[in-house]
Amino acid sequence: MKISELINYLELIAPPALQESYDNAGLIVGKPDRKITGVLVCLDSTEEVIQEAMQLGCNLVVAHHPIVFRGLKRFNGKNYIERAVMKAIKHKISIYAIHTNLDNVYHYGVNSMIAEKIGLSNTQVLVPKQTNKKLITFADMDNSDAIRAALFEAGAGEINGSQQLSYSTVGASTQDGKGFGQVKLEVTFPSYLERKMIATLHHVHPSNQPVYDIITLDNKNTMVGSGMIGTLKKPMAALDFLKHLKQSMQVNCIKYTKTLGKKISKVALCGGSGGFLLKDAIAQKADIFITADYKYHEFFDANDQIIIADIGHYESEQFTIQLLDEIIKKKFRNFATHCTKVNTNPVNYL
Ligand SMILES: [Zn+2]
Repeated sequence: MKISELINYLELIAPPALQESYDNAGLIVGKPDRKITGVLVCLDSTEEVIQEAMQLGCNLVVAHHPIVFRGLKRFNGKNYIERAVMKAIKHKISIYAIHTNLDNVYHYGVNSMIAEKIGLSNTQVLVPKQTNKKLITFADMDNSDAIRAALFEAGAGEINGSQQLSYSTVGASTQDGKGFGQVKLEVTFPSYLERKMIATLHHVHPSNQPVYDIITLDNKNTMVGSGMIGTLKKPMAALDFLKHLKQSMQVNCIKYTKTLGKKISKVALCGGSGGFLLKDAIAQKADIFITADYKYHEFFDANDQIIIADIGHYESEQFTIQLLDEIIKKKFRNFATHCTKVNTNPVNYL
């Protein structure tokens, strides 16, 4: 099976259009038409991980973090990025990164995995980002079913968890003074699929120039965005919750702000560097905000309104390895998928 086939599947779950502007997710090293001999999943595709892939006979490394973020100008092995890329190219190991696009999806996302580990229910994306749009088009009675089916297949009809929704109004069109029965077909879709929708419509519609409108809806797309918020099944005392967090996320150390003398019920979280979401966590009345990469002065922003708990970047995302392994194994059985045994956390604790 080709690398491109696996990528196509992963990108159905975490569309590349959902990555942040600073990101570099995607196929970083290697050609998409190479045949997969095995997959190694990791957070960071360091030189050691490339070595591990070679030993396991895997020619594809699927990483959460893109090893290359900015342009590389030289390849003389002076830093760990160049060394990893040079080694991968030399030994024909491809590197694919699925980063903020995986952070930003509700289903199978980085944050859903954390929420599951902690035991949250009623989870929702903390800050929905994308909008929904609606495509309105017209077709003959005979063609409308095929058009609707093709648009569904391309991802239309989905709004905030509901599937295959459409609206049809039967009416009449006129041409040269004659009337024809027509169907006005309306389907919603997430805004990042706009190009695909237009291409699908042109492909499936019998007219060379199908008439259509696209409008932006006021409904937010709650299936896409940053962070997550949910509730504990039973409220817990702050220290008890922190101990539970430490154990369930397998963390060596939690840095946290003052506990506020009330039980923890609502929990906001974001894997990796999620400090930019603090205001949203407070606005949604979360009792605690779990993330990583907090600096000294930033902890003051808790401002007695919330507890900030910094559990470490690697620690917050470590189960993403398991998540990706499960996503791939569930679908593909024709090659072996391994989780890295290399701990790429650059931070140690004494
Ligand atoms: Zn990260």
